Amino acid sequence: MPTAMRNSLLVCLVLTLCHCSKPAEQLDILINNARIVDVETGRITRDQNIGIRNDTIIFIGDDELTANYSAPQTIEASGKFVIPGLWDMHVHFRGGDGLIEENKNLLPLFVANGITGVREAGGDMTSEIFKWRKEIEDGELTGPVIFTSGPKLDGPRATWAGSIPVTTQDEVVQAVDSLENMGVDFIKIYDSRINREAYIQIIEEAKKRGITTSGHMPFTVMLEEAVNAGLGSVEHLYYILKGASSEEYAVTQDNINGKAGFWGSMDRLIATYDESVARKTFKSLKDNDVYVVPTMHIGNTLSYLDRDNHEQDKYLDYIGPGIIKTYEGRVRGAMRASPAAVERRHALNTTFRGLVPKLNQAGVTLLAGSDTGASNSYVYQGISLHREMAALVETGLSPLEALKAATINGARFLKLDEYYGSIEEGKSGDLLILDANPLEDITNSQRIHTLVLDTKVYSRTELDQMLESVKYNR
Ligand SMILES: [Zn+2]
Repeated sequence: MPTAMRNSLLVCLVLTLCHCSKPAEQLDILINNARIVDVETGRITRDQNIGIRNDTIIFIGDDELTANYSAPQTIEASGKFVIPGLWDMHVHFRGGDGLIEENKNLLPLFVANGITGVREAGGDMTSEIFKWRKEIEDGELTGPVIFTSGPKLDGPRATWAGSIPVTTQDEVVQAVDSLENMGVDFIKIYDSRINREAYIQIIEEAKKRGITTSGHMPFTVMLEEAVNAGLGSVEHLYYILKGASSEEYAVTQDNINGKAGFWGSMDRLIATYDESVARKTFKSLKDNDVYVVPTMHIGNTLSYLDRDNHEQDKYLDYIGPGIIKTYEGRVRGAMRASPAAVERRHALNTTFRGLVPKLNQAGVTLLAGSDTGASNSYVYQGISLHREMAALVETGLSPLEALKAATINGARFLKLDEYYGSIEEGKSGDLLILDANPLEDITNSQRIHTLVLDTKVYSRTELDQMLESVKYNR
């Protein structure tokens, strides 16, 4: 027996004999008697204690194990449910220099609603976002962990300010290089003007560099082409609907030849939805690990602006006047729309709602994204992710499936699931303690008792105070 081992055995023996135990290991936070929701399996384990140090879960175990640890902060969680911090997988910070401060003020709104991570899907505030992200990391600013695409890639004269225009092959390479140098977390492609060749090339160039892509998709591209090129995620369901049409090829050709456009193709796509084509397409999405972000809540909201008046929404109190002003654009559009156009919009939304459970049954991984941001009327930062989960459940998903879409699936998309997305030893200590079981009723995700973010504990009262602190006086 080596000397070192013999000595340590001796020490053990002495310790055992004299009943002296080693000093308690120091933690930052100890959560006692919680029920832990396993978002992968839906299993709930009772009477668990969770030890957190430096942002990370050090141990999960019973009282006997816990006796080895001590922490300055202890949270009694008996009867409560612990879930990972929620991630909104589609948000925007945008609206021009005049709205930078108002966008910054939205950060605590996410936190106060239990959103500990956001995937920012492109806008015109990239340098600010990188700055906020650093300040949040350094504990100087309260906000969720931010993952960002930086500026969107699009064709010339793009719809959204801040987009990088690409047309030629050289421009695509340069643009993807510049995003890589910026250190973006993924690349977002938009479809207002981009040509089909540039679109496909972006996906391929990104893939070469090991960067994930997410996109809208021009109707001049077949969904299958984007999937084969390696697209990482499909945002919204227009493109899914297109890929489920028996006439996708003809619609694509008409778009290439200028005989049809995006909105002009929609009725035809609804009318030619084909169950067997859909099944094949959804299987290909699954097999190629393409994620889909249905954005149901914003669809439900914007599709009914003709009917629903939001002027008394409580959440408007937390949104700056400049951002509220940007809401007017879509409201005007809805009011100007002809009855037939309004009818079509409703029908499209209903069609989308029908697609979600089919995607889910086919095994396609879904992400919960609210698409909250300036110009996206009445879809409020923070709360809209809960509404998205509820909207997903309304379409037929189980609460567990909706919860996955807002936790582990997002972590997987960003290839960060080794550290984020579920409650496990060695993983992030960003978590929510809920008063009621979210697997019984997904709206229980809103019943936040305590939030732990970045090794800081926020009680319900403190979260309410945080909300109050970002309230505008009007
Ligand atoms: Zn968006």
